[in-house]
Amino acid sequence: MNRNRLIGVIENDTKFDHSQEARERSMNAPERVYSPINGVSANTVRTVTLDKRPTSQQEGSTGAGSQHTARHTDGKQAKDSADSRPRAVVIGAGLGGLSAAIHLARQGWKVDMLERNTRSGGRMNVIQEQGFSIDMGPTMLMMPEVIEKIFTDCGRDIKDYMPLTRLTPAYRIAWPDGTLLEMGGTMEELIASVRTFAPDDADRLPALYERMRTKYLNARHNFIERSFNSVRDMMRPSTLQGLVKSFPMESVYQFVSKNIRDERLRQAFTFQTLYLGMSPYTCPSIYALLPYIEMEFGVWYPQGGTIALADSLERLFGELDGTIHYNQDVERILLDGRTARGVRTADGNDWHADVVVSNMDVPMAYKKLLPPEVRRKHTDARIEKCDYGCSGYMMYLGVEHIETNWAHNMIVLSDNYEQILDDICVKQILPRDPAMHVCIPTLTDKSLAPEGHDVVYVLVPCPNTLGKIDWKRQGPLLRDRVIDKLEATGLPGLREKIVFERIFTPDDFEKTYGCFAGAAFSGLTPSFMQSAYFRPHSRSEDIRNLYFVGASTHPGGGVPIVLTSGRLAAEEIALTTRARRK
Ligand SMILES: Cc1cc2nc3c(=O)[nH]c(=O)nc-3n(C[C@H](O)[C@H](O)[C@H](O)COP(=O)(O)OP(=O)(O)OC[C@H]3O[C@@H](n4cnc5c(N)ncnc54)[C@H](O)[C@@H]3O)c2cc1C
Repeated sequence: MNRNRLIGVIENDTKFDHSQEARERSMNAPERVYSPINGVSANTVRTVTLDKRPTSQQEGSTGAGSQHTARHTDGKQAKDSADSRPRAVVIGAGLGGLSAAIHLARQGWKVDMLERNTRSGGRMNVIQEQGFSIDMGPTMLMMPEVIEKIFTDCGRDIKDYMPLTRLTPAYRIAWPDGTLLEMGGTMEELIASVRTFAPDDADRLPALYERMRTKYLNARHNFIERSFNSVRDMMRPSTLQGLVKSFPMESVYQFVSKNIRDERLRQAFTFQTLYLGMSPYTCPSIYALLPYIEMEFGVWYPQGGTIALADSLERLFGELDGTIHYNQDVERILLDGRTARGVRTADGNDWHADVVVSNMDVPMAYKKLLPPEVRRKHTDARIEKCDYGCSGYMMYLGVEHIETNWAHNMIVLSDNYEQILDDICVKQILPRDPAMHVCIPTLTDKSLAPEGHDVVYVLVPCPNTLGKIDWKRQGPLLRDRVIDKLEATGLPGLREKIVFERIFTPDDFEKTYGCFAGAAFSGLTPSFMQSAYFRPHSRSEDIRNLYFVGASTHPGGGVPIVLTSGRLAAEEIALTTRARRK
């Protein structure tokens, strides 16, 4: 079929309009109109414009039964002398910022969020064009109880915001030799599957998962759920014991290799560290817990795409009388000596506040918002020396319906696992035969594409921008290699079926969301010297009343972890301000 003609048909197809409405109804979302920005080059994110602001009549914990229209985007701080609430300004409406803002609002703060882009969610972004709705960032929601908690903490039920479906399998792994393995099911299913290609290892799996469980409990209770704002926090006896137990000098790959012999299985239980931007050959073994989390708590998908989570958090924040101001690029933090008093945006407006919470990538925030003379610890030289995680080359495709036996999430591995990781994370060059994560969400949720079409999301782990890859030259070559590989492994005829395509490179991660070095997943790697107390704290060490949240702060990257960082920061703010009042 003629490609252009098809796109024209999609735009005018009333059937698709209907399915989009159906999707929004099922998400219980407020009515929205999305308008793409025209004339954006192929390598630039198409942001969406929120034309109608949601309203809610649900009772907020800070205001009984009133109607919260919540938003105004005139770029000015509302002046209300009768409002005696303490004021917080949050820079950035990513998931970390939304979480902090929601927790502060429910504690009785008046919260203004300033976001440089035109929607909330940060890296949890979406392309909504030509009838396709394509998640651009996270595709796998883990630790659902952490996500649910933010709603229950506010007296809400997540089911009223976004129904979640457990993906079975969570994902399937495909190796070049044809071996397939389904992950995230039950232990019995995993053992049965492994017995078919690595019988000697099948019976070792329960012990491996038990050890991963121990690592999870240690990480969750001694590190993830705790703030590390002072050396004293690191010196807690339980933390020190947890540190010893976590074998900090052992890598994830070494840990798994001690327990499992088959090289394919070693890969299956270690590649997950790439979610953290780090090679399993160097990532500390405390992070060898992800396969356990996937099996025990599941990998979840919200109807309408993972963007439903950002939309639900935005709605919850509105119900708590919070305000998000879009197109607001924060340029500096207003200081009185070493105390933050608010922020200044690019349009010259000052936003005064009792506390400032930054959801910007921490190295970017220090470099952009604070002059060198007030930065005792986070000097430019120190920021340059830190270790930044890998990035992703992203392909977002809308395609004519494609027959495949692939699962919703696929991990397509290559030969030379170690060499590929070395290329990406150490040599910082593009691997010849790239591994990839492919997500075809339309296998679960037809509402994401016009009838007879699918969405294909491809994430190719690659070096961050410190690798100095010329994406204009090398990008098209990589694209062709990736499509060849997809066609050969599970999506035959893909190239001819593409009707919509958008590419997003590490440069775009830097430009669009302000990720330092384009490190897309967790910013700073979670190496031993960049974790817990050694990772940027939620409370600034340099500036009073300044707090940080998000992937490059403790406890690190990934949706549930970033949401936790927002809660920990709000708790720290409550503690600090209470202590000052005494
Ligand atoms: C491709 C990809 C796939 C991923 N897949 C998964 C997954 O499947 N599961 C999972 O759990 N995690 C996944 N992650 C990780 C997860 O998305 C991130 O850890 C998380 O979204 C980071 O949130 P954040 O709040 O730290 O930062 P961000 O999302 O980057 O938010 C920061 C916000 O600040 C704004 N901002 C920056 N500078 C300014 C300024 N000067 N003024 C105003 N606003 C500003 C930005 O526009 C942005 O909205 C994935 C990440 C990527 C990139």
